[in-house]
Amino acid sequence: MKKLALHWQILLGMALGVAFGVLASAMDWGDFVGDWIKPFGTIFINSLKLIAIPLIVASLIKGITDLKDISKLSTMGVRTILLYISTTVVAIVIGLVIVNVVGPGRGLDQTTRDNLLNDFAEDAGARITAASEQADTGPLQALVDLVPDNIVGAASNNGNMLQVIFFVIFFAVGLILIDPKRAQPVKDFFDGVNEVVLKLIDLIMLAAPFGVFALLAALVVEAPSKDLFFALVKYSACVLGGLAIMVLIIYPLLVRVFTGTSYANFMSGISPAQLLAFSTSSSAATLPVTMERVEEHLGVDEEVTSFVLPIGATINMDGTSLYQAVAAVFIAQAYGIGLDLGDQLTIITTALAASIGSAAVPGAGMVMLVIVLGQVGIPEVGLALIFAVDRPLDMCRTVANVTGDATVAMLVAKSVDKLGDPKERKLDDYYVEV
Ligand code: ASP
Repeated sequence: MKKLALHWQILLGMALGVAFGVLASAMDWGDFVGDWIKPFGTIFINSLKLIAIPLIVASLIKGITDLKDISKLSTMGVRTILLYISTTVVAIVIGLVIVNVVGPGRGLDQTTRDNLLNDFAEDAGARITAASEQADTGPLQALVDLVPDNIVGAASNNGNMLQVIFFVIFFAVGLILIDPKRAQPVKDFFDGVNEVVLKLIDLIMLAAPFGVFALLAALVVEAPSKDLFFALVKYSACVLGGLAIMVLIIYPLLVRVFTGTSYANFMSGISPAQLLAFSTSSSAATLPVTMERVEEHLGVDEEVTSFVLPIGATINMDGTSLYQAVAAVFIAQAYGIGLDLGDQLTIITTALAASIGSAAVPGAGMVMLVIVLGQVGIPEVGLALIFAVDRPLDMCRTVANVTGDATVAMLVAKSVDKLGDPKERKLDDYYVEV
């Protein structure tokens, strides 16, 4: 009897989902897939999102109260933010170098450009409106948005993850400061909740192969015109090349050099989260699994994962920022707009800010791209040029986003001496007999 590990099961689910999607498109079974297959994918994503807030609350309270000493929190906080910013800047620079060298937008012929602009003008318009609402705020709005005026209200929306994190850190600091005898029952309660939520992740992951099958089958059936897709092969190759450099070279190298973890261990530890990031296009939906993998399979202490990963899922998006840099320059090239060094520097800073501001949900990076384009004076309607391939690229950039979070968690853990041996949970090996 051979055992099939979870990542192989998920890969199998993905491959079968794509194959079924192709067959369904050919047979015109679109409605059937929409009515009978897609809902299972939605249920799977919903069940992951469902436990995101309880997981953040319980694990962050446990993580911070285990720290005991608040100064450790600020050390970890500063290192986390600095590492997040550094990896994001590296990603943007890699994207800029590739797109400037390859110049995918320079070869786009007039007819293709007009077709793309016509076909996707409406979709692009919707993103531009969403972005202008977001941009229409004062310079300190991000700070104001961090502090919720009602925690129940904040916790009722997964998009408010940073507000929830803010409250929980505040709460946990209070818990450390009160009489330990009074604090202990509260801490024990959240420790218990934390255990339960981790077990729920194990259970949900048993359904992952079926969930990704449904998600990918529906995605293939709903994919836009394949011809336009091919017109954008060069642009997509630039984004994918950059993401591959990050995921296959930079992250494993950082982990190897600074923590001594081998390439194979890092990759096999994080791969189920990567596959899920690919299938769901959402760092937020993947978060429970990322936390569990990094903790139990890569040996990072919960004190670190509970703090570094939820923050990373919301603010650290290396893949998104790389894509925004490539897309901005691609659109400029397609319009024949020259970008000097100053413009490219503006792209670095705005893509950094835009990726921090992007929500961890499908398509968010494209909304924030509008702001990058605006800053450099590139026509925002150019968004229509890249719309056809946004979803597949979103899937891939989400993989980079999640891998980047895991990498930083490992580096921070090493730096505060919280990186130990992996401790796998029973259910969590997810083996099936074949
Ligand atoms: N889907 C990405 C994420 O959740 C964000 C984006 O680039 O659109 O990480």
